[in-house]
Amino acid sequence: MPPTLDPELRRALAERVRYYQELGIYDFYRRGATSSDAALAPTSQTEVREEMPARKSAAVPALSKGNIFEVLTPRLEHGVTDPVAALKLVREDLGDCTRCKLHQQGRKQIVFGVGNPQADLMFVGEGPGADEDAQGEPFVGRAGQLLNNMIKAMGLRREDVYIANIVKCRPPGNRTPERDECETCSPFLMRQISVIKPKAIVALGAVAAKNLLAINAPMSELRGRWYDFKPSGSDPSWAGARLAVTYHPAFLLRDPRQKGEAWKDLQMVMKELGLKPPRANT
Ligand code: SF4
Repeated sequence: MPPTLDPELRRALAERVRYYQELGIYDFYRRGATSSDAALAPTSQTEVREEMPARKSAAVPALSKGNIFEVLTPRLEHGVTDPVAALKLVREDLGDCTRCKLHQQGRKQIVFGVGNPQADLMFVGEGPGADEDAQGEPFVGRAGQLLNNMIKAMGLRREDVYIANIVKCRPPGNRTPERDECETCSPFLMRQISVIKPKAIVALGAVAAKNLLAINAPMSELRGRWYDFKPSGSDPSWAGARLAVTYHPAFLLRDPRQKGEAWKDLQMVMKELGLKPPRANT
């Protein structure tokens, strides 16, 4: 049973943390907790990840049910049944986001996500590159072209799936997004996933996989298996998604020899979703 808090105390804690957020303070760290305050201490995903040993198989949601941040991040889209409207509310809540330092490191615009709001399949990458930053849409450059081909090979169209990234602003020089940036931005991705309720998610590359699964393992261990994935706070009637890991298309452009391995990953996903590759000439 997760610990329960007195509603008044939860409200007071939420107010206090909102106050800190207005001051620009987003990260909270657990001090040595006494038995009485252990249930109340806010924990960040950072701590969850650092305390989490590497796992080789089934994954669980990144945040536990009793996590205080469910209270601190009110979900405006809760109770909204139309996924288009619900995603719009998430986007509005994101606003002209300045929550992490990527907002002041040269981004042109926020790249929220694109595709079918009721997609059975979601692809999650790392973050926008230069083309994505310019156009405001994920995976539109050369890597995007390759992703489109991968989607087509699965018998789907780009507009059938939903595509998003761990961080929504371009890291300068296409560097890897830093942990604090991922942790600040990914709750919005979790909300998108909770609205879309896909049957399957494909994490593109190690950064996406490690952030979604909170597993620190090489790609060779992350690929080739299924993980159960359900963001905390999601609709209890949704069973959650199955999550698979494959190579990022940008990596495949650099090392095309791995395309065969990526195709094996996608075939695993196709089998799960009952998809057949398109026939030639169709
Ligand atoms: S990366 Fe995400 S959290 Fe950071 S400024 Fe952009 S939208 Fe906000």
